[in-house]
Amino acid sequence: MEIKVCKHYKKCGGCQLDMPYPQQLVYKQNLEQRLLGKFCKIEPIIGMYYPYHYRNKVQAAFGFDQRRKQIISGVYQSSSHKIVCVDSCMIEDKKADEIIVSVRKLVRDFRFLPRHVLVKRGFSTNEIMVVVVTDSPIFPAKHNFVKALLKLHPEITTIIHNINPYDTSLVLGERETVLYGKGYIEDRLMGCTFRISARSFYQINPTQTEKLYGTAIEYAGLTGNESFFDAYCGTGTIGIIAAKNGAKSVLGVELNKDAVKDAISNAKRNQIENIRFTCADATEYILGMAAAKESVDVIMMDPPRAGSTEEFLDAVAKLAPPRVVYVSCNPETLARDLQYITKKGYKAKKIQPVDMFPHTAHVETVVLLSKG
Ligand code: SAH
Repeated sequence: MEIKVCKHYKKCGGCQLDMPYPQQLVYKQNLEQRLLGKFCKIEPIIGMYYPYHYRNKVQAAFGFDQRRKQIISGVYQSSSHKIVCVDSCMIEDKKADEIIVSVRKLVRDFRFLPRHVLVKRGFSTNEIMVVVVTDSPIFPAKHNFVKALLKLHPEITTIIHNINPYDTSLVLGERETVLYGKGYIEDRLMGCTFRISARSFYQINPTQTEKLYGTAIEYAGLTGNESFFDAYCGTGTIGIIAAKNGAKSVLGVELNKDAVKDAISNAKRNQIENIRFTCADATEYILGMAAAKESVDVIMMDPPRAGSTEEFLDAVAKLAPPRVVYVSCNPETLARDLQYITKKGYKAKKIQPVDMFPHTAHVETVVLLSKG
């Protein structure tokens, strides 16, 4: 396999594994073996065929280099406010990187300095969103700027001005104006269409996401009769795919109200009617379900890095569905949660690691749990 070397590796901090890709897969497999090997056999990690330029969402910080007297864009040097100028990154979408370099050249002529520029591309639809983030609502000659940018990149489908007056680690502020196009893009995953707005969450490696979701749906063992509970459902992607692939009814629960709104509109967009979403804390919600002795056939859970809670897992054991599928982005909290739930009558039947973020230390895992 072709091996690429990154000259920004030390300063950037975006990647953590400075080793050839095949070795990274061995490293991640060993990590999973060490943390999860006692629960059941670990399947060989699903790696990426071409582990470069996989990120469909790219953001660059903008600043002024006093010494060289020029505008620069790139990433903050690990835990500092100093910008490392990056024109192209090994893991970012090439088109997105090109657009950011064009914006950098344009803002010089237009004499303004954005805080950040964010580009998202739908890999399967080829729709492209550009978000220019400034600290003040004033955007000089914005219509001419839009015209000039579109002339360089007619492939851009929407341009948004986002205003973020605060100096925090959050890139986007609350206020935005659409300067061009419909203000969002769409992408397709496993035959379903999803809307991506500037602020909404969407998986950043769509190629591997299909492998992750495909494994999760396979483990769910849907036959057309199951009631499916999608806990920590985000914008509803897994639940919507389940509803289209054999779940009889789906209920998604998610804490973030913007994500719930996106989930509802995603379900509509895909004309799915056997699905509902609720904005709630997953633990509180499932405790209510257990108290009401509701019947559930499959519980899908995809918690954040901190993992789930003991109360949530107690409620899972009370509801006693034949299958529980745990999708995890952190094998350490996954190991802790498996330790707990395997004392309550569940057994891990399959464990599948998926490499969603090549060159970083992250690894995603899908676990099938069933009774006895
Ligand atoms: N399954 C989704 C998202 C998983 S990310 C996908 O594949 O895209 C984890 C999600 O859990 C996030 O959307 C986060 O907002 C949500 N979350 C975090 N804490 C939560 C809680 N206590 N209750 C419900 N959802 C929570």
